[in-house]
Amino acid sequence: MMNVPLLDLQAQYATIRWEVRKAIDRVCDSQRFVLGPEVTALEREIAAFCGAKFAVGVSSGTDALLASLMAIGVGPDDEVITSSFSFFATAGVIARLQARPVFIDIDSRGFNLDPKDVQAKVTGRTKAILPVHLFGRCADMDDILEVAGEHGINVVEDAAQAIGARDDQQRSAGTVGSMGCFSFFPSKNLGGFGDGGMVVTNDAALAETLRVLRVHGGKPKYHHSLIGGNFRLDALQAAVLRVKLKYLPLWTEARRHNARRYRNLFSEAGLLEQIGLPEDTPGHIYNQFVIRCPDRDRLQIFLRKQGIETEIYYPIPLHLQDCFFKLGYRNGDFPRSETAALEALALPVYPELTEEQQRYVIEQIRNFYLQVRSSLKTEVLMPQAS
Ligand SMILES: *Cc1c(COP(=O)(O)O)cnc(C)c1O
Repeated sequence: MMNVPLLDLQAQYATIRWEVRKAIDRVCDSQRFVLGPEVTALEREIAAFCGAKFAVGVSSGTDALLASLMAIGVGPDDEVITSSFSFFATAGVIARLQARPVFIDIDSRGFNLDPKDVQAKVTGRTKAILPVHLFGRCADMDDILEVAGEHGINVVEDAAQAIGARDDQQRSAGTVGSMGCFSFFPSKNLGGFGDGGMVVTNDAALAETLRVLRVHGGKPKYHHSLIGGNFRLDALQAAVLRVKLKYLPLWTEARRHNARRYRNLFSEAGLLEQIGLPEDTPGHIYNQFVIRCPDRDRLQIFLRKQGIETEIYYPIPLHLQDCFFKLGYRNGDFPRSETAALEALALPVYPELTEEQQRYVIEQIRNFYLQVRSSLKTEVLMPQAS
């Protein structure tokens, strides 16, 4: 049996260990732990990397989203249109500001919100549209930008999983709307040694508001015309992330290479009738390689027994979460997102994954559909036979 983890951060750390430790030492010697020159330098580097004018380091991807919505004044009775299929934080931040998440279904091609449905959901209360570039593939932004432009609505991008991703017009994720939000959670493509996040924008006034909001809204210190929060990024995180950012293009290329290899292997194994592969685009950065498969839960258990770790992103669509029950959504409202919750399975695609491991993953998936599933079927269809 071979061991295939979903992500192998130790393998990655082994390649940058000394550089990272030097960076951490630098911060220890300075004894400046919150914001400061490391954070400022990271902000400059991320802004350049994305092609944005400004970047503001914050405490997490969630706080990047929260501060962005606060910066445009989202509050009670406002509505924010977003995808019904995402990580919880996407909708959580809307509700935490007493605004209403207005969900739309995903499109039939992938896992991103269907831009054709946005227009119909706009009301006089719509304050923002919050598209998510899920799994590292950019959402279709043109229709969203058009609707937003027509009604004077802000577009805030949840690019937590999409740093460095590009859409079909080569626009960098996070720089298309008025603000873009990144997460440096360790499992993201650019992951820190703890929590961290960043907002990028081309709007100087928004950047300034974000900088004030992340220190409780104090400007100058102890004078508050705004109510913000503690959304500050640590210098230790920034120092580590600055080391890792240099390698990000290399790691992204390795992820794309692994995704290509999966495509070839799935096709060689004759599995393309059962398995739906994620749509490839040149700018996809594969934070996750998510397939659609029948019998998903049993496949996951089977693979786990063979030493292969997978993950279900996400088992319950946002509109069906208990905490949003009072919004009035019901099962059946967003069929594509509900189907995705039943079929989606993330396979390991991290940069250090080897060809041998990928071949093993495919071989075991093939075994599941050839043997295990057919025998399970026989049991169900002919319970008396044995
Ligand atoms: C990770 C993630 C977030 C939240 O980021 P944190 O840094 O964990 O707070 C938000 N949205 C999406 C789509 C994410 O994947």
